[in-house]
Amino acid sequence: NPAARPRDTIAAIATAPGRGGIGVVRVSGSALLPFARALCGREPAPRVATFARFRDADGGAIDEGLVLYFPAPGSFTGEDVIELQGHGGPVVMQMLLARCVELGARLAEPGEFTKRAFLNGKLDLAQAEGVADLIEASTTAAARSALRSLSGAFSSEVTRIRDALIDLRMLVEATLDFPEEELDFLERADAFGRLAAVRRSLESLLDRARQGALLRSGLNVVLVGPPNVGKSSLLNRLAGEERAIVTDIAGTTRDALRETIQIEGIPLHIIDTAGLRETSDEVERIGIARTWREIERADVIVRLQDAGAAADSADTAAIDAALPGQVERIVVRNKIDLLGQAPGRIEADGMVTLQLSARTGDGIDLLRAELLRVAGWHAHGEDLVLARERHLAALRGALEHLAQAAQRVHALELFAEELRLAQDRVSEITGEFTADDLLGVIFSRFCIGK
Ligand code: GDP
Ligand code: ZN
Repeated sequence: NPAARPRDTIAAIATAPGRGGIGVVRVSGSALLPFARALCGREPAPRVATFARFRDADGGAIDEGLVLYFPAPGSFTGEDVIELQGHGGPVVMQMLLARCVELGARLAEPGEFTKRAFLNGKLDLAQAEGVADLIEASTTAAARSALRSLSGAFSSEVTRIRDALIDLRMLVEATLDFPEEELDFLERADAFGRLAAVRRSLESLLDRARQGALLRSGLNVVLVGPPNVGKSSLLNRLAGEERAIVTDIAGTTRDALRETIQIEGIPLHIIDTAGLRETSDEVERIGIARTWREIERADVIVRLQDAGAAADSADTAAIDAALPGQVERIVVRNKIDLLGQAPGRIEADGMVTLQLSARTGDGIDLLRAELLRVAGWHAHGEDLVLARERHLAALRGALEHLAQAAQRVHALELFAEELRLAQDRVSEITGEFTADDLLGVIFSRFCIGK
């Protein structure tokens, strides 16, 4: 994408806001040596740490520290990069940044350094996303997977699949020129065996990517049910501490409360909801409206019932009817301690019902295991990829085109077209084939200075 190659100089504070021993201002642009000379009074040698006094326009000292100079193209962005390591105070850092602006830099936008690295071919898009994911990782497992993406392990798998598709396309395109005997020719070249192999590779990658996506963003679990069935108690039990307000008065949980817990490294965002019921109380009504918004984003709905209640209350039936149809559901019969029942799991008509007690904790392990099961989590090796929704969509899209292709072997033009569409979808992941507006969306979510 050489048309988009940026040329102006950008600068940002690269370290986290606040106070620290060291703070770093990062500058990227073309031909930064004069910039360094003006700022430090000397030209720093490439790729070694140079002690320097950072000066203002009058030659007065702003701070002193280390300057690192990485000449293009051997830098993170592929341009000249200068890193100024000063003392990590917000005022000093601001003064240093202001001086860089005075020398002609402009303030960098979020993710702009990484975006330049992408535009200059230093990273592909999946690797660039790995940078952001590593910074944002909330568990060690997620961090490890992000590093795999960053170092290109995910990208090289994607590239292998893309290359296999290109080979297959070349074969089919060549056949198009010899319309008689075409199927024979493809059979002999094992075109259909190769198509099946590509589909298997894509499916394996999608499976590992789905697992990685779980590690990255976790799962939204919404606890629903009429007042007093024990939603808040269950949330507390899962979270292992007293967070939500538990009371005996129906309707007291007015806000949707979120708690993030981890099961096997997967973040589960558990939402305790206000009792979903008709009410004239304004505050409660606001809580209920919020609950419905949470439910719209749910991955799993845990529907609580009181084990002692004869059947589903009218409330529960109404809630059930209104819940989104696609979302996974688990039914929990709570308060079995009051009935002296044992915890258990019953599966009927594809619906799982768990019996447990939020008060005693009996059966909570069943719920944890069930949450992992509906999430599609299974044991894995070290080869997870920390995928994003964007990657999953591309992998799924490619698989759909290959499924179409498999049904079009008697119409070779269409067969070839489906292969081409599949290749485009796969290439979106590394950004070979990516719309500019998507780049804007991806990089604007980075932090400043990255
Ligand atoms: P919510 O309105 O659905 O959030 O229900 P709460 O969690 O506030 O619980 C309502 C009442 O039921 C409280 O008095 C809880 O102590 C009680 N409770 C919740 N779970 C259990 C349970 O498993 N066994 C018993 N015996 N009481 C429970
Ligand atoms: Zn509650």
